[in-house]
Amino acid sequence: MEGKLPERGVGSVSGGAGGDPLEAVKRKVYLASLAISAPSLPLLWLALRDTDPFIHFVLPPMALFCAVVAAALWLDIAPVRLIERVTFAAVSVFAFLHLIHGLSTTSSITELRAAAEVTTFPTLIVLYVIAYLIFDTSDGLRASLLLYGASLVLVLTGAASSGFGNLEGSEISWMAQTYAFMGAVVVLLYATAFAKSQLSRERAVTEAMSHLALTDQLTGVSNRRKLYMDLQREAESAVRYDHPLSVVLLDLDHFKKINDSHGHGRGDEVLREVAKTISSLLRKADHFGRWGGEEFILLAPETTLEKASDLAERLRRAIADIDLDQPDITASFGIAEHTPRDTPESLVKRADEALYNAKAAGRNRVYF
Ligand code: GH3
Ligand code: MG
Ligand code: MG
Repeated sequence: MEGKLPERGVGSVSGGAGGDPLEAVKRKVYLASLAISAPSLPLLWLALRDTDPFIHFVLPPMALFCAVVAAALWLDIAPVRLIERVTFAAVSVFAFLHLIHGLSTTSSITELRAAAEVTTFPTLIVLYVIAYLIFDTSDGLRASLLLYGASLVLVLTGAASSGFGNLEGSEISWMAQTYAFMGAVVVLLYATAFAKSQLSRERAVTEAMSHLALTDQLTGVSNRRKLYMDLQREAESAVRYDHPLSVVLLDLDHFKKINDSHGHGRGDEVLREVAKTISSLLRKADHFGRWGGEEFILLAPETTLEKASDLAERLRRAIADIDLDQPDITASFGIAEHTPRDTPESLVKRADEALYNAKAAGRNRVYF
């Protein structure tokens, strides 16, 4: 039973927010999508360079921008949040410049359609999706509605300048179908993002409530309900795999006197300090918490009675070493090892009897 809890949250945080696991996942996802979409840029350029002068001139700098974004993601030199927003803005500008160029150089909606169907509208749909990935649900809706509305206004302006009366039925039908489809995409994405955010909010509330129900309010360690559940589970597993399991019960000595002489607030502080001290000395697999009043319990899986008493001795010394101005704190310990005939109650009862004997023998000691 050696060792402390492994230190958490240690790791390189150099460059951007490299320590955030969500950021690391996002970086990988964005790099993968750039790698998948990169081959389409030269293909698009080759396919459209002769017919679409905009693509001819704008796609190479756009490809260079994508390479810079990929390098920034790969080398972790800028926060993902910043890269996302800059990319979103750049791609939006690209889509709108393409649309404006199409409107200013074509004389009919039919001509515009040829260029817009290949680049502008697919790009807008990708932007709607990205908006929900990088913004929260309501900002995602605002951004996608803005893109949708602005492109509609531009197309209508183009249609108006060529004279609505001159529009053919097929052109009107194309515009109506395209904008109905893109509108449906915006609504569908919003509905999905909204449902997802509601679900994660509900999950967060459920988790917070279950945490509250299983945590001791004063000390922040597990409460009796949680420890009883842990004990049942560990006892079942000890029997099934024939592994040792020990229970260590500890009770602060003369705690009533501490309350009486130093006040209840000071008593609370002692309880918090003891909980913190013990928590810092345990393994990940151990279960520790407040059993009630000034009594704590430790469930130590894979631990024999002998090892548990070594551990309890270390805990006893750590409690006696707690350096509060006043009062001196000590605790008595009772240990029992699980046997296949034990119930959770009988196991704790044996530890309690050992604890009683430790108190009777003069306190500040470990008994089993
Ligand atoms: P012993 O060495 O025999 O264990 O003596 P003791 O004084 O520690 O035991 P006793 O059972 O006589 O008193 C326990 C005290 O713990 C009485 C109770 O008021 C106090 N106590 C229980 N819960 C809390 C709490 O949450 N905060 C504070 N400050 N005191 C508490
Ligand atoms: Mg006590
Ligand atoms: Mg007690």
